[in-house]
Amino acid sequence: MTDCLFCKIVSGDVPAEIVRESAGTVAFRDINPQAPTHVLVIPREHHPTAAELAAADAGLLAEVVREAHQVAVDEGVADGGYRLVLNTGAQAGQTVFHVHAHVLGGRGLNWPPG
Ligand code: AMP
Ligand code: ZN
Repeated sequence: MTDCLFCKIVSGDVPAEIVRESAGTVAFRDINPQAPTHVLVIPREHHPTAAELAAADAGLLAEVVREAHQVAVDEGVADGGYRLVLNTGAQAGQTVFHVHAHVLGGRGLNWPPG
């Protein structure tokens, strides 16, 4: 999708601090971090939401989750615990409609979230 911000990060047209890449995914630091570790993991292919990705390619969704865990390991937050967030829809706070898993860690995280 030519007008999608995260497709432009995948193609290199928009810069990002990439921390990890796999065949199907790219992981980069969130520009407005909400925790000491705040990384976004996205599929290279454009899918708007987690549910649409699951329906189109369940294996790719699994790759996103595996990569998110590896980011947490690399960042040193996997043992203490981290949160994986997939905002879906405007009311839940989704602002970029290219599915992305937020990896949040490095501080205590309240439950339930706001
Ligand atoms: P969401 O609100 O779940 O759609 O998450 C979108 C996230 O993308 C937000 O946390 C933003 O801070 C982040 N974001 C927006 N633009 C960029 C960018 N150019 N590079 C990195 N992160 C971004
Ligand atoms: Zn996209």
